[in-house]
Amino acid sequence: TAAAHPIEARGLVKRYDHVTAVDHVDITVEAGTVYGYLGPNGAGKTTSLRMLLGLIRPDEGRARLFGRDPLEEGAAALDGVAGFVEAPRFYPYLSGRRNLELMAALDGGDAADRIDDALETVGLAERDGDKVSGYSHGMKQRLGIGAALLRDPRLLLLDEPTTGLDPAGMRDMRELVRRLAADGITVLLSSHIMGEVEELCDRVAIVRSGRVIYEGAMDALLHRASAHGQRYRLR
Ligand code: ATP
Repeated sequence: TAAAHPIEARGLVKRYDHVTAVDHVDITVEAGTVYGYLGPNGAGKTTSLRMLLGLIRPDEGRARLFGRDPLEEGAAALDGVAGFVEAPRFYPYLSGRRNLELMAALDGGDAADRIDDALETVGLAERDGDKVSGYSHGMKQRLGIGAALLRDPRLLLLDEPTTGLDPAGMRDMRELVRRLAADGITVLLSSHIMGEVEELCDRVAIVRSGRVIYEGAMDALLHRASAHGQRYRLR
């Protein structure tokens, strides 16, 4: 049998009071791809990522990561999976390295052995002794990815990694995601600004009001948009 996809979600639904935050969403992410989950604020991106990670229970449907359901199997199903939902959080008065050391200690295993590599990969090796409170927004986002790398992931889920970055921060983040993909890590990232991530993504889902309104290869979408003499706008 073929290896299970990094992400396979079918019919995900999440309702809050009068809002259907996520409305029958299917997502298939194939190994080795960068997948963009794109849509305006409130489209249900964060809620979808939470369901994929087993942080909240869908009202309908199910999500599997590498064929395993975190709601059924717990932490074991998240082996090889890492990332962040909403902004990563750190102790601001501790250094970037110290934050990773604390996370590694909580994580156990050989996470501590990966701290140097993680800091290097995310471009923070030279600033690892600085307090996180002195980091730019982009550096904090990259430290969040560094923290995720301590788990030696095969799959990374990144919620809005580029939001709020200045042009330099954006460039660093794009380079970082490219490097992760080149290292064979499958990446799902959400964004509400398509222009920020389009060149990174192999495939995209465009979501609006909880529904996927387009799913396909990024270049097919760009082609379709230019055929209509316009760029797709998300907001
Ligand atoms: P953003 O980028 O603003 O976070 P998003 O695409 O991630 O947007 P969600 O945060 O998933 O969207 O929210 C989708 C919808 O569900 C919104 O209308 C939001 O108000 C609603 N929602 C999300 N979480 C809750 C909750 N815990 N209780 C009530 N409503 C919620």
